[in-house]
Amino acid sequence: MRRTFIKTLGTALLGLLLVPYKFVLSAAKQINKDLTEEQKEIMFEEGTERPFTSELLNEKRDGFYHCANCGAKLFSSAAKFDSGTGWPSFSEALPGAFVTKVDYSYGMKRTEYSCANCGAHMGHVFDDGPTQTGKRFCNNGLCLFFVPTE
Ligand SMILES: [Zn+2]
Repeated sequence: MRRTFIKTLGTALLGLLLVPYKFVLSAAKQINKDLTEEQKEIMFEEGTERPFTSELLNEKRDGFYHCANCGAKLFSSAAKFDSGTGWPSFSEALPGAFVTKVDYSYGMKRTEYSCANCGAHMGHVFDDGPTQTGKRFCNNGLCLFFVPTE
């Protein structure tokens, strides 16, 4: 009985400690309040959207892809290609668009990239791209919005 109480109390205290911690992290990254829960999970908790769900997969117009959180310009449509993976893919980013870090989750060593302006997670970049750059930026569609050029 007493043990259960202490355990419950412990969990409650831990919860109290974690809430402000999470809040501070979020505040530091300035999350756009118009984002959906799914977008927030991908961009700030490093989630991944289900493949073949993004409307941007079929986007073929000329224009630019922007960060859904802060609006920064990240990719040109000229760099977009169909990788067959089910996520919007690009052969190169606009200069200075991203910061990268090595990600060891799921027992793999991958390079994760985030918006350089706001820190939102975007996807992973691989060295198996089909074009001259050799890069394949595999981006969650929900982290982007497209603006066609007139
Ligand atoms: Zn951003």
